This record gives sequence, structure tokens and C-alpha cells, in this order.
Amino acid sequence: MSSENKKPFALTAMFTMKCPSCRKSNVFVNKSMFPLEKLVVLKDECEVCGERLKSEKNNGGGINYALTMILFFLNLLWYWPVFGLSYKDEPGVLGGANSIFYYLVISTAIVLLAQPYLMRLSRMMYLYLYIGFGHSKRVDTTPNSSSDTI
Ligand SMILES: [Zn+2]
Repeated sequence: MSSENKKPFALTAMFTMKCPSCRKSNVFVNKSMFPLEKLVVLKDECEVCGERLKSEKNNGGGINYALTMILFFLNLLWYWPVFGLSYKDEPGVLGGANSIFYYLVISTAIVLLAQPYLMRLSRMMYLYLYIGFGHSKRVDTTPNSSSDTI
């Protein structure tokens, strides 16, 4: 048994959109976010290890909703200390009242800007939940590793 196949760190591979099985190849057809209509188009299978990437069941949508809400409230962490959060502020950085309103606007804008990445990340999370490292048979190329020998 050889271990010269270095196993890339799962989280790094996930955030850089690599195949969950071999963690080497990109899983999305387009490496860049654009054009947006092809944003979440996955390759049929990984070109390095042959792992099936397309699944009708991939509901990144639910994960995406959760991520969106998390990011929305994470913005509180920096906004609150900097600008405060109230309906009746002392005149401050943003010129006075309604800092909670500004928070809603700014946080919504950030979430919208991050949305393309979140949509991809949620699909990645789904893949990583269901496909473990070395899941594809082609990762291990030793002769007697075929699945039909019991
Ligand atoms: Zn792969």
C-alpha cells in the first residue's frame, strides 16, 4: 500500500470547489463565476477520478438558504460594534438615526454580492456530505482494488 497520493485538506478543497473524492479537479464547468447562468453547472463526472458529480438530488438550495441567513447575521458582528444598532442613535458615523435600517440595507447588499459564491459553496457542501475522500474507485489504482472481489 502506498500513500504517495497526498490527501488534500477537506475544507480547503471544499472552499476552492475541488472534487470531493480526489480533491484535485474543479467540479464546476466554469472555473470563474461568469457567465452567471452557468454558475452552478457541475461537470458530469470528475475528469481526474471519474467520480459522478451530477445528482438530481443535489439540493444545495436548502443549504444555500441556511448559509445566506448565517452570513446575514454574521454581518452584525462587525456592524454592531462599529455603527451601533438602534432606531434612535446619537448622531454618528452615518449621520444619526436608524442604524438598524442601515444594517438591513448593508447586510442585504453583502449577502446579494456573496450569493454566487454561496450558491456554489452550498452545492460543494452537499457533495462533501455525500461523497467521501477516495469514494471513486479510480483514486486507488492498485490492481486488486476493484469492487467485485469479496
Ligand atoms: Zn475527482
